[in-house]
Amino acid sequence: PIRVRFAPSPTGMFHVGSARSTLFNWAVAKQSGGIFVLRVEDTDAARNRPEWTEGILSAMASLGVHEGDPTFEGPYFQSANRGLHEEAAARLFADGRAYYCDCTRDDVIARTGSQHAGYDGFCRDRGLAYEPGRALRFRTPDDGETAVVDVIRGNPTFPNAAIEDFVIARGDGSPVFLLANVVDDLDERITHVIRGEEHLPNTPKQQLLWEALGAEPPVWAHLPVLVNEKRQKLSKRRDKVALEDFFAEGILPDAMVNYLMLLGWAPGNDEEILPFDELVSRFRLDEVNSAPAFFDIKKLTAFNGEYIRALPVAEFAAACAPWLVAPAAPWAPEAFDQATFDAVAPLAQTRVALLSEITKNVDFLFLDGPVDDEASWAKAMKPPAAELLADVRAAFAALEPWEAEPLKDTVTAVGERHGLKLGKAQAPVRVAVTGRTIGLPLFESLAVLGRERTLARVDAAIV
Ligand code: GLU
Repeated sequence: PIRVRFAPSPTGMFHVGSARSTLFNWAVAKQSGGIFVLRVEDTDAARNRPEWTEGILSAMASLGVHEGDPTFEGPYFQSANRGLHEEAAARLFADGRAYYCDCTRDDVIARTGSQHAGYDGFCRDRGLAYEPGRALRFRTPDDGETAVVDVIRGNPTFPNAAIEDFVIARGDGSPVFLLANVVDDLDERITHVIRGEEHLPNTPKQQLLWEALGAEPPVWAHLPVLVNEKRQKLSKRRDKVALEDFFAEGILPDAMVNYLMLLGWAPGNDEEILPFDELVSRFRLDEVNSAPAFFDIKKLTAFNGEYIRALPVAEFAAACAPWLVAPAAPWAPEAFDQATFDAVAPLAQTRVALLSEITKNVDFLFLDGPVDDEASWAKAMKPPAAELLADVRAAFAALEPWEAEPLKDTVTAVGERHGLKLGKAQAPVRVAVTGRTIGLPLFESLAVLGRERTLARVDAAIV
């Protein structure tokens, strides 16, 4: 059976690139009836923190990849396999595939005359035994080439002469990432290594290790790098990359999953918005493009808008809940009223692309007055706004019933008297009541806000 793995290092927030790797691995496992292994590569004690491991598990669960699913195996922890890594290093030494080396970096630079030449093989045949401070190096073949099977990159070959004798265990005996990663993949019987492009340079070395350990190398697939709108590789210092930050803004997990599945792959027929099960059954690893994939936040946001509009309104209202209380919401907790919110939820649902946008659409209902926005005020309150508002006020005071249609007819009629079309006539009313020039349909909003509060706000705008 196909066995894939996702092997994150718990050194920071869960990155959208990691999310994409998770999903592509998950899709391959699911569609083939295979297994997805989660292996936490936690051997860098200085940089690992338990909360990052928690973060990995919860981020993956939000993508639908979690313990308890029959496709899911693990999590395994690389640190628990230390004994196996050491055994593999000892075996490679015993087999003559690795040797101890006491060269310092400066020694190598002095001999080769270059910072970048790589190791020159000086200790290859010195027959050194282990002593603290001596690194263990893998003896790479002198000729021939290493051909890797990469389903995305057209099977690149690497001349062995160009692969230096690389370190597999440090001077303190600790195995390095390159070796631990291979030993774990072997131990977990991984058949397909699907990971980010940044690991491509490691691949010929790792394949040599697979072979030296007597195993059939896996199929490799190096996923294209994610870039920003300037075609720069996404970086956590410069770009928004943490999955959690997108969720905190109101990207829905389903929209995120759908969008991530399209980073480097497309289902064809110009179809983009598809249920996850359908994406999984159509996904083909060998159709993944090797070119950098643009992580387009605008497109993600547009996807999210579509997912929001597709929700049953009650689910939409429930999904908004975190943004309807402090600190996201600017109003006092006791000012919020669920029934009032539910009355406008269907109007808001068609207008927000991020759940976080909900607050500015409904704040006029829960704040004491309109938001204070000078620019909107200046734009809408030009003559004859004051006279128009006074006439609207008088008509509203006597209006029956207080409902959207008659409210609209009233403003239409008053506007006509002032020579204004409805669009122009309603602008000062909207700003008087909400403080904003744009928002939910005005007359439905006024109907929900109620006569008393509407009149008070219009009065306040006139003086
Ligand atoms: N721990 C490595 C990383 O996070 C994984 C490398 C691999 O997938 O082989 O980059």
